[in-house]
Amino acid sequence: MQRTLVLGGRVIDPSQGLDGRRELVLSGGRVEALCRPGAPVARPRQGDRVLCAQGLWVVPGLVDVHVHLREPGQTRAEGVAAGTAAAAAGGFTTVVCMPNTRPVLDRPEVVRRLRGAIARRARVRVVVAAALSLGLEGREASDLEALAAAGAGALSDDGRGTGSGAVLAQALSRGARLGLAVLVHAEDHRLSAGGVLRAGPVARRLGLPGQPASAEAARVARDLGLLARAGGRLHLQHLSTARSVRLVRAAKRAGLPVTCEATPHHLCLDERDVLAGAGPGGPDTNLKMNPPLGRPADRQALLEALADGTVDAIATDHAPHPRAAKAQGFLRAPFGILGLETALPLTLGLVRAGVIDLRRAVALLTCGPARALGLPAGTLAPGAAADVCVLDARLAWRLTPGQVRSRSRNTPFMGVPLLGRAVYTLVGGRVVHSLEATR
Ligand SMILES: [Zn+2]
Repeated sequence: MQRTLVLGGRVIDPSQGLDGRRELVLSGGRVEALCRPGAPVARPRQGDRVLCAQGLWVVPGLVDVHVHLREPGQTRAEGVAAGTAAAAAGGFTTVVCMPNTRPVLDRPEVVRRLRGAIARRARVRVVVAAALSLGLEGREASDLEALAAAGAGALSDDGRGTGSGAVLAQALSRGARLGLAVLVHAEDHRLSAGGVLRAGPVARRLGLPGQPASAEAARVARDLGLLARAGGRLHLQHLSTARSVRLVRAAKRAGLPVTCEATPHHLCLDERDVLAGAGPGGPDTNLKMNPPLGRPADRQALLEALADGTVDAIATDHAPHPRAAKAQGFLRAPFGILGLETALPLTLGLVRAGVIDLRRAVALLTCGPARALGLPAGTLAPGAAADVCVLDARLAWRLTPGQVRSRSRNTPFMGVPLLGRAVYTLVGGRVVHSLEATR
C-alpha cells in the first residue's frame, strides 16, 4: 500500500496537546504514525510519496461547520465542485453545508441527491445539514428520522431563526436520539425587522435600516432555555453580540451542553468598517452579512470569548453570491461573504495580534468544531482519518479575483495583504490541494 510521509514539519495538534517536530506517516487513508524524527517507521521506502514540510506547520485538516455550497439550485454562485475546491485551497478537509438551497434540504430525496453530487464531485468531506423545519419556515418539523436515514449529518434552519420554540425543542430531543447536532441561526425576525446593518450610529448615518443586538441575544436566551428543558445539544452559529457571548458563557458555567462559533469577519471587522468603506454609491456590499457587523465592544467581547474558551469554533459562514446580486446596492444585495480561502490567515492574524495563542487558534479550526458537532475529524492521532493541512505561516500573499477557487468573488478581503497559507491539503491521505501545482 502506498504511504504518504510528511517529513520535517512542526506538528501542531491541540487534540493531543502536541506542538513539536514530528514525522507523519499516512497509509490506507489513515494516520499510521506520528513520530519523532529518526523513527524507523518514517524512513522513506520505495513507493512512498514524500512531502517535505521543512519550515512548514502540519496541522489536522481544518473543519468548517458553516458553509453554503449553494447546491442544489444556485450553482451560478457556487456548487459542490467549486465550493469544495475553495475549501481545499483554504486548508479545509471537512465542511458542513447549510440547507437553505433551492429546493431546501428538508426532504430525504433532496438530501440523497445532494449526497450523490458530493460523492461524485466533492474534493473534501462534506457533512450535510438538513433543514430542521419544513421550508426553513420554522413552523413545522421536518421528518428528522427520514433525513437522518438519507444521510444528513446535522440539523439547522440556517439563514433564518426557527420561529417555533416547540419545533426547535423537538429537533433538540429527536436530534440527540439520532446523533445529529442542532445548529441554530439565532435571530428573532420580529426584532431584526429587515435591518441590513446593526442598529445604531452607523446605520443612522448611512440612512439604512438597522437590526438591534437584541434580535440575536433574545433568541439566544430563548434557545438556551429550550435546551435546558428539551435536552440534546445546541450549537449556536455566527454569534455577533457581546450579550449573546455573556449568555453562552453563563450557560456553559451552568453545565448546559451548548457550543458556539464566531466568523472571521465578526472577529476582524466591526460596523465602523462599513462606514469607512462607503463610497458615493453607498457602503461596500461585501460588508453586508447576517448577523451584521457589530460595535467595537461586540468584537472585543468575541475576541475575549475566543481566548477564554466560550467560543468553540471559528466557522466561516462562506456565502457566495453572483456579482450581479451583490451589485444591487446595500439595501437590496443579499447577505453574506466568502470565507473558505481567507479563514486561515485571518485566524493566524489573531495570534500575531496577541488575542489567542497558536495552539488555541489551531484548536478553533480543528478539534473545536469537530467536537462541537461530534464529527470524527480535527485530529492527527494514529488511526484517525489522514486529513491534513500543511501550511506556510510566513507566506505573504493576497487573494486576487483570478485565483479565487470559489465561483463568486464577494469578499471584503480581496487584495488585502494576508500572511499564512495552506501549501498542501490532504483528505484521506490524498493530496487535494497543492500550492506548488497552482503556481
Ligand atoms: Zn446564518
